[in-house]
Amino acid sequence: MGKVICIANQKGGVGKTTTCVNLGIALAMAGKRVCLIDSDPQGSLTESLGYRNPDEMENTLADVLKAEMEPDDKLSGSDYVEEPVCDNLSRTLENTILHHVEGVDLLPGNIELAGVEVSMVNLMSRELLLKTAISKIRNDYDYIIIDCMPSLGMLTINALAAADTVIIPVQAAYLPAKGLEQFLMTVSKVRRQINRKLRIEGILLSMVDCRTNFAKEIIALIYETYGSHIKIFQTQIPLSVRAAESSASGISIFSHDSKGKVAAAYRELTQEVMKDGR
Ligand code: ATP
Ligand code: MG
Repeated sequence: MGKVICIANQKGGVGKTTTCVNLGIALAMAGKRVCLIDSDPQGSLTESLGYRNPDEMENTLADVLKAEMEPDDKLSGSDYVEEPVCDNLSRTLENTILHHVEGVDLLPGNIELAGVEVSMVNLMSRELLLKTAISKIRNDYDYIIIDCMPSLGMLTINALAAADTVIIPVQAAYLPAKGLEQFLMTVSKVRRQINRKLRIEGILLSMVDCRTNFAKEIIALIYETYGSHIKIFQTQIPLSVRAAESSASGISIFSHDSKGKVAAAYRELTQEVMKDGR
């Protein structure tokens, strides 16, 4: 069964999506079967993989979650097929998962997820919808990586409920580092109430500007505060315009600048993640 990793932090713009793309593709390059899931209504993961207009896509994660929320007993007359609800879900998943040229599969996301998140709120088992969907494909992959939106809403809770581990990218700057405490409290709460097995895979220092003392001070502070009880990845992702360029051109850092320092860092991070095993 594949390992489910969620990449989350309620702070925006800290490198979640960039990490999802490049970790996913590096794992695929290492021969792993990988599925990336875009659980952000912004559709940034989908767009970063080169799908230019996520909002115009016909099948997305929103349809998968809807298939689960609306069992097909609504079908009537000649449309009626006697099938269990789960088959409706499996069929929707099959129609939705895309195969990307760089070797990963993608369950795309778009703005429709915002509406789905609202309608989830009144459902029973609303925290477990994504987990149920993932259970249908877990055997097909070695790694399933979920890119979360910058909030602690129901979609993020679903991702944490479905995950074995969470990677928390943190930008080496004052305010993003401060927001970490709130996120860690959410992880603890999810662990207590919904998903006892959830582990923190690690805090990932991203967009690190090695030239500044300020970044060094923030990093020292993060180590001092959390280093004794939470893993902090040895690999730090350097700040580089190459990373921004690669997201904008819809390709991974390995296709955009394979010899650069960001590509090297994501390769190293991938080794650390693979070493962790489960
Ligand atoms: P959101 O919270 O909006 O989902 P995010 O946490 O997913 O954001 P990204 O989209 O990965 O963050 O990154 C934010 C911006 O910073 C993007 O334009 C991206 O291309 C750029 N970026 C990511 N990593 C780096 C880096 N190492 N160096 C420079 N720019 C980067
Ligand atoms: Mg993002």
